[in-house]
Amino acid sequence: MKKLTEKAAKENKLSKNEIIELLINENPFLFKLADKIRKQTKGDAVHLRALIEFTNICKQNCYYCGLRCDNKNVQRYRLSIDEIIECSVKAKQAGYQTIVLQGGEDAFFDTDKICKIIKEIKKLDVALTLSIGEKSYEEYKAFKDAGADRYLLRIETTDKELYQKLHPKMNFENRIKCLYNIKLSGFETGTGCLVGLPGQTIESLAADIMFFKELDADMIGIGPFIPHPDTPLGNENKNNFDMALKVMAITRLLLPDINIPATTAMETIKPNGRIIALQSGANVIMPNLTEIKYKSKYELYPEKNNSNINGEEETIKVIKEIESIKRTVAVSKGYRHDIK
Ligand code: SAH
Ligand code: SF4
Repeated sequence: MKKLTEKAAKENKLSKNEIIELLINENPFLFKLADKIRKQTKGDAVHLRALIEFTNICKQNCYYCGLRCDNKNVQRYRLSIDEIIECSVKAKQAGYQTIVLQGGEDAFFDTDKICKIIKEIKKLDVALTLSIGEKSYEEYKAFKDAGADRYLLRIETTDKELYQKLHPKMNFENRIKCLYNIKLSGFETGTGCLVGLPGQTIESLAADIMFFKELDADMIGIGPFIPHPDTPLGNENKNNFDMALKVMAITRLLLPDINIPATTAMETIKPNGRIIALQSGANVIMPNLTEIKYKSKYELYPEKNNSNINGEEETIKVIKEIESIKRTVAVSKGYRHDIK
């Protein structure tokens, strides 16, 4: 395993079978090497992105997600444009260089409204990431032209059959098309997958990693699947941390210079999950700056949010974590191709 891991780090390439080997076998060296590569390519500074969850209203019905439209146990909310800007100003004042606007697919926020919000936020001299789902090429282009810098849209799984099962109102080919349209619009493009979905195979996880490489994604977020009781997948397996960490570490070997977050889902299912991820290839954290009164309602999965911790406390906590492992907080905007 050690040899294969070293080869991956040297050539930034693996066959599907080789990825499967790495996913199946016990191999602590994988995490060490992913950490070493991260240090070489990205340095020790961790980029903080301020996450604002601005609407939990969603027309989609993804089987795994607590915000799916069939879940009637959610108290729905959307922030006003003023509230979004206010929260962004706070993030900027707290030192954040990137704002991430994330939400359900909420038709209220049409192209004009999103462009207006983008223009306001860009006045703050921050990088801006959008994570608001599937749109047309024209819409992505309009967001880019309005000044947004990055776009996150996870493929979730490259297993087409599984994708169709879990996304009743969506279409796998369209998901792929959206990702290429995001790239074509000029965004730094983020994607990623869920790990541990019922019916998901090791082979398909290997194919997910191959897809990240093929797309040449700029950011990859790997989320261990966490069952939400109010969804059809509520009783499924939740021990997905270790496999998610492996997928993340292999991704670092194949795409050495991209931005990889230690995801909130990793922190949620494992104590110190974020620190472990930061030491296994990750170089980004996305602290949640959504106001407390909304935060607990953005329940993609259970116990996602420290709902009683406000943005300032969350920021302090994250910085302490970073410093506890002798890393620093980055001061640049943290594009993929920034000089470290
Ligand atoms: N609506 C947008 C953004 C919000 S969802 C979108 O779907 O792109 C953001 C991410 O949350 C999704 O990409 C999905 O991978 C993750 N997510 C949803 N439900 C989850 C669960 N039960 N466990 C772990 N991650 C989940
Ligand atoms: Fe909506 Fe995103 Fe949840 Fe799917 S994953 S239901 S698109 S918020």
